Amino acid sequence: MNHVVVVGAGLAGVRSVEALRAHGFGGTITLLGEEAHRPYDRPPLSKSVLLGETDSTVVDSDLDALEVDFRASVVAKGLREGVVETTEGELAYDGLVIATGSRPIRLRGDGPQHVLRTIDDALELRALLTGGAKVAVIGAGWIGAEVTTAARKAGCEVTVVETADVPLSAALGPVGAHTVAWYGQAGVDLRLGTAVASVDQGGLTLADGSLVEADVVVTGVGVRPAVEWLAGSGLELDNGVVTDEHLRTSLPNVVAVGDCAAWWSRRYGRRLRVEHWDTALGAPDVAVATLLGDEAVYDPVPYFWSEQFGHMVQYAGDHDGGRLVMRGDPATDTRWGVCWVTGDDRLTAVLAVNRPRDLVQGRRLIERGQRLDVDRLADPAVALRDC
Ligand code: FAD
Repeated sequence: MNHVVVVGAGLAGVRSVEALRAHGFGGTITLLGEEAHRPYDRPPLSKSVLLGETDSTVVDSDLDALEVDFRASVVAKGLREGVVETTEGELAYDGLVIATGSRPIRLRGDGPQHVLRTIDDALELRALLTGGAKVAVIGAGWIGAEVTTAARKAGCEVTVVETADVPLSAALGPVGAHTVAWYGQAGVDLRLGTAVASVDQGGLTLADGSLVEADVVVTGVGVRPAVEWLAGSGLELDNGVVTDEHLRTSLPNVVAVGDCAAWWSRRYGRRLRVEHWDTALGAPDVAVATLLGDEAVYDPVPYFWSEQFGHMVQYAGDHDGGRLVMRGDPATDTRWGVCWVTGDDRLTAVLAVNRPRDLVQGRRLIERGQRLDVDRLADPAVALRDC
């Protein structure tokens, strides 16, 4: 293998380049990125960047030392076996890493709507979050909650409109109800169970015909994998690029990583597509090993975090079908959590609110799959590792 092309210069893309060199690949590497920027981290965009604490989140990676041919502002338009078609012509490859991430969903309507995916989005939005500005945030998910936090800190009047009955419903289900109080405490008008019909000039039109006036509308209703350029390539696509547990796609010498990859999880016995930083960080090492002929398996316990309304919220695992055990009382404690356990008392997921040790210890317990004493689990004074 002489030439590896990495498409997508986000975290998963740049980590793939690093992994190629770390695995001893001495050939040519080309990294293509649609954006005009060097690879940067996205989690701070809705946190320290929006809060005005930093302007740059460039990943600490020496592209010169990695001897990578990094081509910014180049878009992959199509793929056929052995060739990537780009806005700058065709590029032949021996090995290909697909790391094109995901793109935010926008809603109907001709009014201006902001999304938050890129550093340019973040800087543009930050300039609009000024004292007294009326901000409407669509979606009380991770991004919506973090944008709301920053907007309130900047002194904006914020209305959050959410279709589900609780915030964070897609990720946490009914447990998200325990974060409703955070919105009230922050002085936010949170409208649950409310659908937006369209984004119009001057604000939102709701499904019942009423209006929410806004100077700034931010849409945070989720993302879709950025795989449109792969249509017609013969590559199997199903909610992203389909891969096996080695991150190998249906085409030879092609692997996929990060937000765009729907990988087979040996641990959970089903396909997962995880849109979180830890996956973009960890998957490239396995994908590159696969590309270079090793049989590594990608089998993590998924992990993510969010910082909202002054709380550190962390989650590891997958709670599908698990029995819920509370650790602490969200109504009275600022430090609380939730464990999900299987029918035979093994931990399957953990949510830790301002309890970082629970996250670290819980993730290890999930990895080991050992049986627990559920009564002790319900006592927040007992360390998870002692349950
Ligand atoms: P991306 O970061 O999306 O990078 C893909 C790159 O590929 C992009 O630069 C894109 O422009 C480029 N590209 C796309 N199509 C093409 C093409 N055809 N040709 C060339 N280039 C292309 N996760 C957490 O765990 N915790 C958090 O607190 C958290 N906060 C976040 C806050 C924000 C505002 C955002 C946007 C994300 C956050 N995430 C968080 C998620 C995390 O950042 C993503 O999971 C991670 O960035 C995925 O990395 P990636 O490299 O797979 O994709």
